[in-house]
Order: sequence, then C-alpha cells, then structure tokens
Amino acid sequence: LYNILQELRGNIRVFCRIRPMFNEEAKCTIDYIGSDGSLMVIDPAKPQNAGKIFQFNKVFGPTATQDEVYRDTQDLIRSVMDGYNVCILAYGQTGSGKTHTMCGPLNRSNKDTGINYMALNDVFQISSIRKDVTYEICVQMVVIYNEQVHDLLQIFGSLTGLLIFNYKSTLEIRSCSSNGGLSLPDASMHLVQSSADVLDLMKLGEKNRAFFSTAMNHRSSRSHSVLTVHVHGKDILDSTTCSCLHLVDLAGSERMDKSETTGDRLNEAQHINKSLSCLEDVITALAQKNPHIPYGTSKLTQLLQNSLGGNAKMLMFAHVSPEADSYRETINTLKFAQRASTV
Ligand code: ADP
Ligand code: MG
Repeated sequence: LYNILQELRGNIRVFCRIRPMFNEEAKCTIDYIGSDGSLMVIDPAKPQNAGKIFQFNKVFGPTATQDEVYRDTQDLIRSVMDGYNVCILAYGQTGSGKTHTMCGPLNRSNKDTGINYMALNDVFQISSIRKDVTYEICVQMVVIYNEQVHDLLQIFGSLTGLLIFNYKSTLEIRSCSSNGGLSLPDASMHLVQSSADVLDLMKLGEKNRAFFSTAMNHRSSRSHSVLTVHVHGKDILDSTTCSCLHLVDLAGSERMDKSETTGDRLNEAQHINKSLSCLEDVITALAQKNPHIPYGTSKLTQLLQNSLGGNAKMLMFAHVSPEADSYRETINTLKFAQRASTV
C-alpha cells in the first residue's frame, strides 16, 4: 500500500529540518512551523515585512528527535527490501545539521545515531523476519571531492596496527544497468551481517573522511559522502531482486565569501557549485518529467543515477540554521528545496 500511495504522489519527497539555536539569545529567522509542512521565515533586517512561506512534505522543528525523523523515513527504507532503489540526500549550508541527520554521533553508545545506522538496522531486522526471502547486504562508502571519487572503506595496508587510507587513488564510475548494476565496481564492497559490522564500517568511513580532509587540507564539509547499501534478495522460487539505497551527506551549499575564493578554495567552490547545480538540474528535470535527465554532468549525479528517476524514490532533507546571520543561506536552501518538491 505504501508504494501505491507513494506512486500516486510522485517519487520525490522533501522534508525540512531546522536545527536548534546554538545561542538562545540570538535572533531567530523562523516565525512558525505548521503541522502541514509549511514554515514562515522572517528577514531579520526587515522584521516589519511579511515573512516568506514555504511548503514541504514535512517540517521538523528544532526539538524533533532522531527517532521522530527516522519514523517518517522508515517506509522509504523498507521499500528497498521490495526491490526499489532509494536515495536520501542531506542538503544545506555547513553547520545546518546534515551530518547530524545522516550520521549522528557515532561514538556515544548508539544514542542519537542518524538515519544511516538506523536504516541498516532496519534492513537487518526485516531480513531476519522475512522467511520467504533470503537477503545479502553489502555496503560501499565513498567521498566525492573536486569531482574525484575516493573509497572510504578501503583498507590499504596496516602499519604498526594503524590503518592507512589511500586517499590518492581515485575510482572510475562505470555505466550501470538500470537496476542494481554497480556504478562503482572498484570501490571496496563489504558484506555486513549485523548492526555491529555496520557501526564498525561507519566509524572507519568517518575516520577516513576526517583523515582525507586533513590530507587534502580541506574541511569535510567541502566534499560529498555517499554510503551505498546494496540489497540482494532471493525468494523460494529462486527469483532475485537487486536494489540499492544511497545515503548522501552533501557538501555545504553555502556561497563562498569573495575573500576566500582564490586558489584551492576557488577550485573547491567551483566543483561544489557545479555538482550541486547538476543535482538541481537533474531533480528539476525529474520533477518536470522531462525526457532528458542530465545525469552525466557530474560525478555525484552519475553515481546516484540508478536511484534518481524511474521507479526510484528520493527524499531530500533541506537543513536550515535558524540564526539571523544565516538568513540568506536559509532562503537559498528553502528555495532550492521548494523547486525540488513542486512537480
Ligand atoms: P553539517 O553537517 O550540516 O555541517 P552538523 O551536522 O555537523 O552540520 O551540525 C553542526 C552542529 O550542530 C553539530 O555540533 C551538531 O551536533 C549540531 N546539531 C545539528 N543538528 C542538530 C539537532 N537537530 N539537534 C542537536 N544538535 C544538532
Ligand atoms: Mg557535515
């Protein structure tokens, strides 16, 4: 039933999440949050003016918990087990809560973990409950930085017990068959059999992402990280399904200060702008049901191709920071998300 309902409404969902204020005394740009998925934003420089109203499938306010957010994501995750490809994207400026939503803190005894971990947990639970289908679950995790793809789970070698991450090697994206075909055949593929396996891999991925940022002298918010879960199901009649779930923590969407945009930083900013605007073009083309979807224009959209469009289901979280000094970026994020959600 869920899949039928979903198809009737289209395959693109957009949720907005507003993180808590860091400084309670600061001015807030969010005026109200409606239970129908609307929210109003006030320009802090012109508080007397009418606010701008945006409409999404759902808005999560600053007090929403990780569990509440996951509850509304769960059905989508479950459709992966029925053979659908799914993509969940975290979009927003740096500091707006993307990593919190997707990954959450990984070190504190599983408390507050994000969608990535809860999704995999769910996948395991379903696979153990369903006796009619045997599942095999594998994960890959990569980072895209300056239009180059690097494996975050490759264990390159071990020196005095320390894992070395080979950040210099880059991966090719190969054309994939429309469903389940590998688009990154050379990225390491890890068979996972329990939530504990998943947690270990995610910790490794996050550590490598941090290591990579340091090695490349950039902030991790300047790269996209993509966790892909491949689900292979085989039923009692030996018929198989093959689907994948992409969980994407996008690079910060903020426009760079002019002062910062020279040399390496300029190069970075241009790559991010390009890949985010390619993503926007793809989503807009899908929303308008255009016959031509420009997947090929960036590494990110190439990689996500099999889970954007067709029967695939997409959910975007538009993250915003409520503080007055983020107003301009908040409006940019909400406008982008609004465009993505209007069919
Ligand atoms: P981003 O990945 O978009 O740059 P982060 O997820 O790192 O942003 O969030 C920035 C900071 O805000 C982090 O310290 C994070 O723990 C905190 N934070 C973000 N969202 C929430 C939330 N919903 N509840 C509590 N803390 C949050
Ligand atoms: Mg982040």
